Amino acid sequence: MNKTAGHKRPTILIVDDEKTNIDVLVNLLNGEFRTIIAKNADQALRRLDSKDEKIDLILLDILMPEMDGYELCRRVKGNILTKNIPIMFITALSLIEDEVKGFETGAVDYITKPFVPPIVLARVRTHVELKLKRDLCEVLAIQDGLTGIPNRRRFDEVLQFQWNAIQRRRTPLSLMLIDVDYFKKYNDNYGHCAGDDCLKRVACALKGAMPRAMDFVARYGGEEFVCLLPDTGQAGAVEVAKRLLNTVAALEIPHEFSEAAKYITVSIGVTTVTPPVAGDSSNLIETADLALYQSKAAGRNQLSVILCQ
Ligand code: GH3
Ligand code: MG
Ligand code: MG
Repeated sequence: MNKTAGHKRPTILIVDDEKTNIDVLVNLLNGEFRTIIAKNADQALRRLDSKDEKIDLILLDILMPEMDGYELCRRVKGNILTKNIPIMFITALSLIEDEVKGFETGAVDYITKPFVPPIVLARVRTHVELKLKRDLCEVLAIQDGLTGIPNRRRFDEVLQFQWNAIQRRRTPLSLMLIDVDYFKKYNDNYGHCAGDDCLKRVACALKGAMPRAMDFVARYGGEEFVCLLPDTGQAGAVEVAKRLLNTVAALEIPHEFSEAAKYITVSIGVTTVTPPVAGDSSNLIETADLALYQSKAAGRNQLSVILCQ
């Protein structure tokens, strides 16, 4: 997989209590992959717990003192943060029942010792490639292709999650719709590529202006963006909206065909809901849309607020 040249090598965690096995596997894999070692299940779990380690495959021995490979496999598969990491058993246990148990526990492959190095390498390549493709699919499914920020699908999920969370916490939730002003004229006069570039810069600026971890910005569609501010009341949301107006204006992207300013600007509709509220979240979006319409009608490059009832 040196097809990944220029990128970080995929990482393989080798879990085995025997040094000679580890040495053979490391020698076999090390050029193409980054290998890390754990000599028992405890060490492996600590490696898997580490936030800055992204493991793409686990090669797992079964017979180990204390916790065996089956139990470790069960734990990895039972943890939402690690369950997508493929596990290949490499073991001296060669009975059919052992192999069946390995697959039932959640492994993707089962190799018996003494193993044939080129076969191990081929299988490792296959499973790592599949894992990386799955990871990519997961990212692409929730990311906007043009701007790289979360897409509408992801926004719908996050809104649903936050809607439920605020009903439990009884804290306010604010939502903003942000629409680029006179963007059709921008496209018509500067071209579609310049329009795309402008949207990328606006998206990046919006994201950069919302440093709080829970605040969320997505591309809602076309030249519209949406922000979700959990645990934020109206006053806080207005502060953020003002900051976003200023941030976009400060990009100073020339737009001589705008009737609102010399530069690209946005209009914002802000709304806040405070639980308990009946019904679903659709009213929140409709209210923000109404507020956005008011900003447009009042001359653009401004924000309007309507409380969501
Ligand atoms: P207003 O100030 O009322 O918001 O007017 P507007 O021209 O911004 O709004 P309108 O809805 O009339 O036009 C939006 C334009 O955005 C039209 C569409 O071609 C353009 N647009 C939507 N998505 C993209 C995109 O991905 N790339 C580019 N370049 N343009 C896009
Ligand atoms: Mg629009
Ligand atoms: Mg617009």
